Amino acid sequence: MRRREFLLSCAAAGAAPDSILVHEHVMVDFAGAEKIRPGRYDADEVFHTAKPKLEEVKRLGCRRLQECTPAYIGRDAVLLARLQEATGVEIWTNTGIYGAADHKFVPGYARRESAAELASRWIAEWRKGIDGVKPRFIKTGVNHGPLAELDRKLVRAAAITSRETGLTIASHTGNGKAAVEQAEIVLAEKVPSSRFVWVHAQNEKNHSFHEKMAREGFWVEFDGIGPKSAGWHLECVRFMAERNLLSRTLISQDAGWYHVGEPGGGDYRGYTYLYTDFLPRLDGSWRRTLMWDNPRTAFG
Ligand SMILES: [Zn+2]
Repeated sequence: MRRREFLLSCAAAGAAPDSILVHEHVMVDFAGAEKIRPGRYDADEVFHTAKPKLEEVKRLGCRRLQECTPAYIGRDAVLLARLQEATGVEIWTNTGIYGAADHKFVPGYARRESAAELASRWIAEWRKGIDGVKPRFIKTGVNHGPLAELDRKLVRAAAITSRETGLTIASHTGNGKAAVEQAEIVLAEKVPSSRFVWVHAQNEKNHSFHEKMAREGFWVEFDGIGPKSAGWHLECVRFMAERNLLSRTLISQDAGWYHVGEPGGGDYRGYTYLYTDFLPRLDGSWRRTLMWDNPRTAFG
């Protein structure tokens, strides 16, 4: 509690160092690509639920929050722009399609079209904006390796989009095997390894995958940091530090979020735990690397 009070008082004094959260959510709708449609939620209610959570983390120094909800799972670029305007926290949205959860969130056209056709849709979103808002990264997702052909196609489409736009790919990844397979696809499409982020790397318990991916220049993201998982996350970050791989490591919470379909959006997990409880347990000199330098290098 004393740490928390100290940090909050720093924040009040304007002393909280600038930081970026690379993987969080404001809203999700797990209805599935076939059922999702506008009007399933009250955007004002989501706005008023999320706003105080964003204001709270802004006081702790958060300057940018990357909203990782893809299309067909509740991405709402207009709502995010409104929250950005109201809170002063920069909120990034994304382009791409998410294949994890056994393709439940993949719309029919994405099953039929080629990787190049999908990429041209995502490149168009980048050029013209999503309801006027430019996506700032590519979000995709795959199941466990060996990857299904549809997963491989989504990653290839993401790589083509990245080559064309310069955007970084963040990919929800089942395990280390799936990370390695994606790495091969990305490199085969002539996209540099520094433009691929292995999301949910904490789900792979074998550190040799983390080491291998980071040594090849890919980003290894340990997100989902919260009270229950903090011990394992600490171990992961310390492992990377011991191997001199902190410069390829990202951390975040995968927190939020307003659940469409639950009364009042259900239990919205705020964004402060990482600041109040996790960062104080790390070597102080790592903070800037993990919370500022690396997010900017990885995503621009
Ligand atoms: Zn997430």
